[in-house]
Amino acid sequence: MTNKDLANLIFPNITKTIEDYEKEYPERDLPEGARVTRYAPSPTGFMHIGNFYSTVVDYVIAKKSNGVFYLRNEDTDGAREIEGAVEYIRHVLEHYNLNPDEYEYRDTNETKGNYGPYIQSERKEIYHAFIKYLIEEGKAYPCFLTQEEMDVIREAQTKDKRRIGIYGRYAKYRNLSPDEAAERIKNGENYVIRLKSQGDFNKKFKFDDLAFGTMEFPENDIDVVIMKSSNLLPTYHFAHLVDDHLMHTTHVVRGQEWISSVPTHYELFKTFGFKMPKYVHTPLILKKDGDKIRKISKRLDPEARMTYYEEKGYPIYSVIEAIMTIANSNYEAWREGHPDAPFTDFEFSPKKMSASGALFDLDKLDNISKNYISRLKATEVFDMLDKWSKEYDKDFNELINKYKEYTTSILNIEREQKKPRKDYASLSEVKGQIWYMYDELFKTPEYEFADGLDKEEIKNVLDTYFNDYYDENDDKDTWFNKMKEMTDKLGYCSDMKEYKANPDKYKGNVADISNIIRVGVTSKSQTPDLYVILKLLGKDRITKRISMI
Ligand code: GLU
Repeated sequence: MTNKDLANLIFPNITKTIEDYEKEYPERDLPEGARVTRYAPSPTGFMHIGNFYSTVVDYVIAKKSNGVFYLRNEDTDGAREIEGAVEYIRHVLEHYNLNPDEYEYRDTNETKGNYGPYIQSERKEIYHAFIKYLIEEGKAYPCFLTQEEMDVIREAQTKDKRRIGIYGRYAKYRNLSPDEAAERIKNGENYVIRLKSQGDFNKKFKFDDLAFGTMEFPENDIDVVIMKSSNLLPTYHFAHLVDDHLMHTTHVVRGQEWISSVPTHYELFKTFGFKMPKYVHTPLILKKDGDKIRKISKRLDPEARMTYYEEKGYPIYSVIEAIMTIANSNYEAWREGHPDAPFTDFEFSPKKMSASGALFDLDKLDNISKNYISRLKATEVFDMLDKWSKEYDKDFNELINKYKEYTTSILNIEREQKKPRKDYASLSEVKGQIWYMYDELFKTPEYEFADGLDKEEIKNVLDTYFNDYYDENDDKDTWFNKMKEMTDKLGYCSDMKEYKANPDKYKGNVADISNIIRVGVTSKSQTPDLYVILKLLGKDRITKRISMI
């Protein structure tokens, strides 16, 4: 029996060859310099900030070069698949407008692109054709090691402080004759297919990573598994080779945890004589924890999960900006010069990524976001708030829609001016800052009057003001002049200089008066522009509020 016979025994129904597939997946017809990237998640967990970071990088690299960004579902690990993971990935991509050009969604039967299937479990025959070729060439072989035997090998390697894996003398079935292998297969023995590695661990090769620079690795000499026995699907290593080759990926952007697999991938590509794509290994996402800097953790840090940003109601713009800011150190400077450009206009450079880790700072995100929201129109903020609260705060959603115009005016306070207020970093913060404008939420407030102020005095100031002075038709100057007039009338001082010189002569000053009015109608000692607030609240609300004190 020859290797070819053995390959036929293992894959009797595989008739297509690698050449056939290469014809089916021709070079992409793209403009010069266009880059092809992909997001290739395994649906075994929920998308976290590290995945998102890589995805944004994928997206910007593809879009800036007029290339292609596609989504590939790496579901070869069926047993570990989590229900809803793919749907969530799709949701995040759509939410952030990082829509892939090519994809396949099984649940809705949607697919786009000529390089599919884009779900690995649907590509079994393709992988088998590539594996069949390797067996025919004597470059891969069935391995019959049982779990128990593997455990014994691992223990011995650990004890002898040797490298873990099936290589050299541990690769017991590497040189089995095709006849012996066929015999075992016919007897129904369980097996995996392993690469017959040609590498020499004592030899080194150089590898250029676009983010990490040039690295040196020993050659791979491990007979890695390329096809599993459980579902006859390839391992990640092999699927990476086949898919990124056939789909013509030019840039593989993936987490730095894959750097250790580079020797395996290098050997696989070499074995087939395929050109390797370029690699951009993305650094770990770090966070400040007290004065320590550590890796962000899915378990400890809520902000590690992408759900966090939606729940909090961060605008998509803010999250992407925060990511771009940590991805490339010159992004912020570029943004200053191009305030309105889409982030995909930025010339992203993997070389400018910090290989030692990307520090993700929530304060920074808040800053970016406050600036961004402050520059929006009130109607835009309203729409965002409406969408967010529909999902996360239904009662508030009803309220803002009941008073849509009123709410929009509240959101407009100190907005259309040269330096707009920077109130909100996220939509979940809005209610906490404007609740007092709604009677429905203004039930039993905690008043923040200055210490020592007696109730009679408060009532006196408020009654005098709203009965004798306040007129909602007054313009701002008139309004302020009247307030000063009343200040003096009630024995307070409207002239701050005079007040400072002779404080004992007065009950207080004009700031104390406006404070009483402010707290009287809002309960808060700090609010945006009191003049506008009074105008918006209007007579009815004000009257009701004064009677509550
Ligand atoms: N499926 C792999 C993962 O989720 C993909 C790595 C890659 O992008 O190549 O980690």
